[in-house]
Amino acid sequence: MANPNQAPKYTQLFINNEFVDAVSGKKFPTNNPATGKLIAQVAEGDKADVDLAVAAAKKAFHRNSEWRKLAPLQRTDLINKFCSLLERDKSLLASLETQDNGKPYADSVFDIDIAIMTFKYYAGWTDKFFGDTIPGGEFIVQTRKEPVGVVGQIIPWNYPILMLAWKWAPALAAGCTIVLKPAEQTPLTALHLAALTKEAGFPAGVINVIPGYGPTAGAAISEHHDIQKVAFTGSAEIGRIIMEAAAKTNLKRVTLELGGKSPVVVFDDADIDLAVDITHEALFSNHGQSCCAGSRTYVHEKIYDKFVVKAVAAAKARKVGNPFDESVKQGPQIDDEMMNKVLGYIESGKQEGAKLQCGGKRIGNVGYFIEPTVFSDVTDKMKIAQEEIFGPVQSIFKFSDMEEIIDRANDVVYGLAAGVITNDINKATKFANNVNAGSVWINCYDAVLPQTPFGGYKQSGIGRELGKDGLDSYLETKTITMKLV
Ligand code: NAD
Repeated sequence: MANPNQAPKYTQLFINNEFVDAVSGKKFPTNNPATGKLIAQVAEGDKADVDLAVAAAKKAFHRNSEWRKLAPLQRTDLINKFCSLLERDKSLLASLETQDNGKPYADSVFDIDIAIMTFKYYAGWTDKFFGDTIPGGEFIVQTRKEPVGVVGQIIPWNYPILMLAWKWAPALAAGCTIVLKPAEQTPLTALHLAALTKEAGFPAGVINVIPGYGPTAGAAISEHHDIQKVAFTGSAEIGRIIMEAAAKTNLKRVTLELGGKSPVVVFDDADIDLAVDITHEALFSNHGQSCCAGSRTYVHEKIYDKFVVKAVAAAKARKVGNPFDESVKQGPQIDDEMMNKVLGYIESGKQEGAKLQCGGKRIGNVGYFIEPTVFSDVTDKMKIAQEEIFGPVQSIFKFSDMEEIIDRANDVVYGLAAGVITNDINKATKFANNVNAGSVWINCYDAVLPQTPFGGYKQSGIGRELGKDGLDSYLETKTITMKLV
């Protein structure tokens, strides 16, 4: 049952299976974006705490440790036990997530369900990453897949539980040990999940959670010499800082899931109501705060005007408000900074000549709510056409033919995802094969499955999460060559 007043049980750092205060004794506030009110003060980790967490994770990764000596299927059992605890605490976790992040309660439940699927999927991988035997003439050659070691994981606030699952599940399946920093806006559910890993029976030090800020706790992770890989999701700006930190210290492996400016192309043969629904959800789900948001809606000129009318009606019908109200589809933006950033983009769209069809304003003055907003007549060089807005702002462009739309779809610095809506298999295939994007969805959108790789071309990132590719990024390949004597 949803509980808008669910108090967090855990607000300290989680190191070596214990909840502890920060070395500095500092705390920071985490607020409810629907009300602007404080939910809790949380221990604020910094370098000294990251050092302790890494030492615990390093010890847990020692070749003779309990964790390293587990058989693969014992890791599977631990992950599955953890999933049953996620099921048990689902409503508590969803209540906390909705308070801390502002997403509708049903969306929090959905995120937890997908997180559980992700853990279950990776639970099955523990004994299935094989090496090869390789013909080597007089040598007998085999390869072994080994966990990379202690990994640092830095995640954003838009899907706190789900992003954690994308990071923990493959790392645990591979046999790594973990130091995770949740986003400073949303630290609460990560701490509860940490407690559940202890209850499930994970040995001390395998999982450590250090809430705190990016330039302090986050930087201590990306600069740490005993961390062998850092996995990051967030902005391209911080992705660059993390890569640089890795390069300047121990050349730790880096995977980055960054932003996007993903096109969704609607051809004139498409079922227009279906296309309106898909493009609406592609942009407005999670309040537009999604890295793969379909933030450029391209509509064929023959159906453009009719499409805009229906898209505007859909945006106007989207109910915004208290995320614990079951009829609400859109809660607040994450904080006042992001709200103001989104409102700034709306201003720039107006100034650059896009036509504001609906929305455009903040709702009320409590919490960080923005009206679902639709711009038509958007052109490619406008700021709202090039930069990631990360808010409930749909931009609708007009196009006329295939070659043109492929070039225009590719004319941004990002390449995370794309969508195409058509009943013509040739159009769908030609577009899918030529668009520069890590994921392409045909007649659907946001269909991210645990077993399918996800990640970006160009400045949308480096590497892939989910699927076997996601597991590989937590593994090293060792070649062992033997000569018979
Ligand atoms: P961000 O990149 O600033 O933060 C993401 C994570 O990185 C947080 O945990 C943060 O504490 C940490 N971080 C910040 N500075 C760091 C540093 N110097 N070293 C190490 N870690 C650091 O993202 P944000 O402020 O939450 O949002 C800003 C923009 O990022 C958004 O407008 C959006 O465009 C983008 N974003 C993308 C995603 C995504 O899923 N790809 C998610 C959230 C935000």
